[in-house]
Amino acid sequence: MFCPRCKDDYGDEGHTRCVDCGIDLVPGHPPEPEYIKFEQVLSTYNPLDVALIKSILDGEGIVYYFHGENFMVIRPLVEPARLMVDQREVETVKELLKDLRLTFTGLNLSKSEEEEED
Ligand SMILES: [Zn+2]
Repeated sequence: MFCPRCKDDYGDEGHTRCVDCGIDLVPGHPPEPEYIKFEQVLSTYNPLDVALIKSILDGEGIVYYFHGENFMVIRPLVEPARLMVDQREVETVKELLKDLRLTFTGLNLSKSEEEEED
């Protein structure tokens, strides 16, 4: 049983009403929240590229993160920073970045086959 409003899962504890909302519970379990699926757009070993890309994407309000960015500080040239963006915005991001003259190493603007989970 779960509350359709606040999505609290009451399991099989015998509740019929949400203690927070005061409305009737419905059978089953709350639906999975919608996770953003991130997809790699490119990778770079250059911290300056990362900074530049961040400033562009921040300005556009793009949802993104750099996977392995901290590695780059600790162990430069061992782990590249991978730019991960909401897969629905991959094309937008490629469009935004395509004219940049960056020093990407292992630049990969094609679809990655790696599965990244986070
Ligand atoms: Zn509730």
